[in-house]
Amino acid sequence: KWGQLCQKLLKTVGQNNYTTWIEPLEFQALEEGVAVFSVPTNFMGNYVSQNFSDLILYELNNSGEAVQRLAFRVAANSPVRPLRNAHSRPANNEAPKVRAAEAADPMDALQAAPLDPRFTFDSFVVGKPNELAHAAARRVSEGGPVTFNPLVLYGGVGLGKTHLMHAIAWELKVKRPDLNVLYLSAEQFMYRFVQALRERRMMDFKHLFRSVDVLMVDDVQFIAGKDSTQEEFFHTFNALVDQNKQIIISADRAPGEIKDLEDRVKSRLQCGLVVDLHPTDYELRLGILQTKVQMYRATYPDLVITDGVLEFLAHRISTNVRVLEGALTRLFAFASLVGREINMELTQDCLADVLRASERKITVEEIQRKVSDYYNIRLSDIIGPKRLRSYARPRQVAMYLCKQLTSRSLPEIGRRFGGRDHTTVMHGVKRIEELKMVDGQIAEDVEMLRRALEA
Ligand code: ADP
Ligand code: MG
Repeated sequence: KWGQLCQKLLKTVGQNNYTTWIEPLEFQALEEGVAVFSVPTNFMGNYVSQNFSDLILYELNNSGEAVQRLAFRVAANSPVRPLRNAHSRPANNEAPKVRAAEAADPMDALQAAPLDPRFTFDSFVVGKPNELAHAAARRVSEGGPVTFNPLVLYGGVGLGKTHLMHAIAWELKVKRPDLNVLYLSAEQFMYRFVQALRERRMMDFKHLFRSVDVLMVDDVQFIAGKDSTQEEFFHTFNALVDQNKQIIISADRAPGEIKDLEDRVKSRLQCGLVVDLHPTDYELRLGILQTKVQMYRATYPDLVITDGVLEFLAHRISTNVRVLEGALTRLFAFASLVGREINMELTQDCLADVLRASERKITVEEIQRKVSDYYNIRLSDIIGPKRLRSYARPRQVAMYLCKQLTSRSLPEIGRRFGGRDHTTVMHGVKRIEELKMVDGQIAEDVEMLRRALEA
């Protein structure tokens, strides 16, 4: 049965994904609604669980099994795979041209893990916030003469740094198969370094890292504060730059702003081209969603998305693309599971938690400012001690809104209103609740303010 399902999964995920992630899964058992698979490594289990579990669950249930959950267990005696890139051509005994190292266990460090087959230039959507980073990545991916070294890509989480780095590696694999490209995270760099120290194989380590043509180190901020790793990184870096080898680095912030990163490392990183990925804007998010929908269409040709849903998601879901993608995956899996179209109602239902989490947080200060604007009084009069009715009422409205729209406790709210007691806040909140029932003007004021704040 699993065999038949595999055929379906193959169609859905494509040959590359299938060979890398699905084929190595071994179906073990179905235990009380949990489908148990054995996997060769923890890393694979996590990856499959994060990226394909919705799909596998869907297909399992579709085939008549009642499965609620998937579990992945590492097979006890799975053979250790030799160092080889999962995507290199078969029957090719040469050293791999592109390698990605695996983090799971330092002892595993020489075991190759594939680059993510989905992270290519084709699937990368370019917009204003990332166009510079994209252009720079494109340039180095051509494998021409080194013009800037290093290339540093920085930006917040989920903005596409890893995607761009993998895309560069894939592209180089095609354009410059002669180059020895090594992609790894800074964490993996550290693991390898520590392992080499422990096994007294520093010479091997140095040799390995100095013989690559293109070195890519992802999330370099990880080595901040790790002195000996930084030192080794510094030497590796210099050795490669001296040989005019391309180095590509990513970080979650500008090199100069990474705390506990040695100055000499900082200044090396700043020597090349430093480009940032800005937080996504509405247009880019919409573009990414539309691209993903195109991809899903191949899998779920019958699914209908009503107008406005993608716009709503692009508007409502933060700047992190990973969250955006996760939301869409969930939406598709859910819709196909229940056989309904994706409309606003289904979206709100299915993504309630995501939408809540990404809601813009309203602050006490914002409320105070809006309320004072609204009543045309000064901010200091809302916070201050004056007891005049013309200040006291707006103050109570503001307290009421704070209670309703923020997660602050009464004492916390009191503190932000000039150090008032929590009973004063409680009294204010109660007073407005009562007045709203009998005083149309107050009810309207509160409603207007709430709408302005939630906009
Ligand atoms: P980072 O490494 O910056 O934290 P990733 O590269 O892992 O972020 O990106 C997170 C997810 O968002 C990935 O699935 C990636 O494919 C996707 N993503 C980010 N930016 C884009 C983009 N511009 N176009 C398409 N997908 C994107
Ligand atoms: Mg990353």
